[in-house]
Amino acid sequence: MDQISNQIKEATHILLASHSDPDGDAVSSLLALGLAIGKLGQKTTIYNASPIPAVYRFLPSVERIVRHIKKANTYDVALILDCGDLPRIGEASTTVSRIPMVINIDHHISNTGFGDIQLIDPMACSTAEIVYRLIKALDVPIDKAIATSLYTGILTDTGSFRFSSTNQAAFAISREMAELGVEPHNVARHVYGTYSLGRIKLLNLALDSIEISDNGKLSIMTVTDAMFEETGTNSEDVDGMINYARRIEDVKVAALIQEQKNGKTNSDSHGRYHVSLRSDGSVDVATIAGSFGGGGHSSAAGFQVETTLTKLKSDIITLAQNL
Ligand code: 5GP
Ligand code: MN
Repeated sequence: MDQISNQIKEATHILLASHSDPDGDAVSSLLALGLAIGKLGQKTTIYNASPIPAVYRFLPSVERIVRHIKKANTYDVALILDCGDLPRIGEASTTVSRIPMVINIDHHISNTGFGDIQLIDPMACSTAEIVYRLIKALDVPIDKAIATSLYTGILTDTGSFRFSSTNQAAFAISREMAELGVEPHNVARHVYGTYSLGRIKLLNLALDSIEISDNGKLSIMTVTDAMFEETGTNSEDVDGMINYARRIEDVKVAALIQEQKNGKTNSDSHGRYHVSLRSDGSVDVATIAGSFGGGGHSSAAGFQVETTLTKLKSDIITLAQNL
């Protein structure tokens, strides 16, 4: 922690980045740490490869997140947040790997340990929790803007304090953030409050796509490019939908197959797919995701593959035999 604080304080230009297709934790830890380091008077660039999902656009200073970075020699320190591996940040990963000091701050058990310094705590409820500790170590006072981000990261990554990742720190930090002026109802209104009509229609199609293994222990939900087109939605609108597949009685593992842009809709041709996995807590899906080249946490993990939809579904259904 001290080593990282010193690197931050002595840097000339710091790049902060989190994973593409960001979730609440990825956006929030990026902004909270970016704002805190800015308060130290340090020059920062706050980067994410993807558009920020509409539900997180209320976060203070969200407009400071840029989608492109300059040459590697522009920066002397890179802080990589909420990424199990460096390629998770997307396009910029090659450039980032050339920055002299890459610091890996994360809570994924499957973290590859990339970078020059690692601050990885799989027991942390969110990367936001680790960022909170780092901000304390930097001795930066937490204002309402930083507090709003930290609270949002914790709220979303613990599934509103429901997932097994929910720990005492989640409540302790949230309480402190509420004391600093964060209004939980206001954050909840933005994060969970209103959905576009397209998102509701996409949910309808996604629910209709659910298939269950013969033994009833595994469910698969599929979201295709055609569904996005039909409903005028995109990948950010899928966030959270897998929970419907996971909540089905007797289901131990749920998989959500999401066709990636430029994928093909014909199930017999190759396409790129992202697969999210969730378990009821009795199965370690990080290991399953790992066997497909991905990673994550024991009850929430994912991977990407290039294959046909038919083959992918049959590979996933096969997993049910071992449940
Ligand atoms: P989600 O299903 O919400 O995309 O991700 C669930 C968890 O799995 C997250 O903690 C995320 O970081 C991890 N994860 C998802 N996709 C991948 C992937 O392609 N590679 C790795 N290493 N982790 C992933
Ligand atoms: Mn996270």
